[in-house]
Amino acid sequence: MAINDLLNTLEGVKKTGANDWIARCSAHADKRASLTITEKDDGRVLIHCFAGCGAAEVLAACGLDFDALYPPKINGDSAKPIRRPWNPNSLLKIMAFEASVVALEALRISNGHATTPEDKQRMLLAHQRLQKAVGLIHG
Ligand SMILES: [Zn+2]
Repeated sequence: MAINDLLNTLEGVKKTGANDWIARCSAHADKRASLTITEKDDGRVLIHCFAGCGAAEVLAACGLDFDALYPPKINGDSAKPIRRPWNPNSLLKIMAFEASVVALEALRISNGHATTPEDKQRMLLAHQRLQKAVGLIHG
C-alpha cells in the first residue's frame, strides 16, 4: 500500500483519524509534527507541511517519488498491448479490397454490363465480409 511506504519513512507518526496521520516533516528540522498525511477514498495520499515544505521536498527527503502518493496500479502489466484475434492492418486490407470489388462492379453495371449470377454471388460475399469485419472491430 502506498501510504505505508510513506509512513514507514517518517518519524513521530501519530494516527489522528480513520485516514489521517501527523508526523515530523522530513524536509525541515521539525520539532513538532508539522506534517499531515491523509489517505483519500480513492487511495491517493495528500501530504501537507504546516511549515511550508512542498510535497516534492517532503517526498525527496523520504527518498520517495510522487508514486508514493498514488495507489498501486490494479493492472500492474497494463503496458502490455491488448491481444486481438485479428490483425487490424490485414482487416483494413480485406475491407479495402471488398469495397473495391463492389465499386468496380457498380461501375460495370453503370456502364451497361449485365450482372451475372456469379457477380451477384460475389457482391453478396463482399457484403458478408464487410459485415463480419465491422463485427470484429466492434466485438
Ligand atoms: Zn516541512
